[in-house]
Amino acid sequence: KREMLKLLRGRENVTIDGKEIMLYANIGDMKDLAAVMQNDAGGIGLFRSEFIYLGRDNYPTEEEQFQIYKTVAETMAGKKVIIRTLDIGADKQCEYFGIGQEENPAMGLRAIRICLMRPEIFKTQLRALYRASAYGNLAIMYPLISNLWEIRRIKEIAKEVEQELTLTGIEFTRPQQGIMIETPAAVMISEELAKEVDFFSIGTNDLTQYTLAVDRQNPELDAFYEPNHPAVMRMIQMIVDNAHKAGIWAGICGELGADTTLTKEFLAMGVDELSVSPGSVLPLRKIILETDTRSI
Ligand code: PEP
Ligand code: MG
Repeated sequence: KREMLKLLRGRENVTIDGKEIMLYANIGDMKDLAAVMQNDAGGIGLFRSEFIYLGRDNYPTEEEQFQIYKTVAETMAGKKVIIRTLDIGADKQCEYFGIGQEENPAMGLRAIRICLMRPEIFKTQLRALYRASAYGNLAIMYPLISNLWEIRRIKEIAKEVEQELTLTGIEFTRPQQGIMIETPAAVMISEELAKEVDFFSIGTNDLTQYTLAVDRQNPELDAFYEPNHPAVMRMIQMIVDNAHKAGIWAGICGELGADTTLTKEFLAMGVDELSVSPGSVLPLRKIILETDTRSI
């Protein structure tokens, strides 16, 4: 079966009736890059940058981060690389950030909230990303957005970074900027959010948790954690429609995107991109090649 899938390398991700979809890979480490190439992913749709921060006892420097982002951008040789900014807190604890004990960490100080409350940490990462953009096709994605003001504030901070880089004569290219849609609030204001960004990527892992009020980390609740719950599926449709209305693309980077029983439905819904673990790329391509969205 593996051998059969290998034959799909180099093929396009296009349905029988000519609908094309972007098929990217999720990575959580530089070591995953080999698998991305082997499985012929069209790009990286989610690079979980927090691995750079975890498992050490001090903040990674701008230079350290720059080298990593540059290497990924160069390795992917012009293919899209979407790097998600720092998403720690909740399930990913990092001692040196000094975030105290929280009653409800999933709803606490995590992801973009940390970045907005501690802009110096955020700016260090943005500077590294902007600099690395000169070496490939980089895009930046912000996690756990739930307010319009957050993206506006992010853009202000990004502008400051641009000005500082320009002032000191450091070369950069401005990367595309997108957001993760992973809170119900972001879904409900997706029409407004779409006007502010270049793309949406749906984080169904968190979106399911926050929509169904089910802790994604508690295995005892597995029977209730249902990422293809009709509430989540309708949200996905709403997000895609609002993205298209504003002329931007919308993809799925949560685990649900790899569910081959839903691929046809996602195609029919107009989902533009699926980003999945490298091993799921070719099985998804197979389904896409067999799909005719006219008969869904
Ligand atoms: C998600 O929430 O669906 C997602 C892709 O991000 P993470 O699993 O890293 O929270
Ligand atoms: Mg998430």
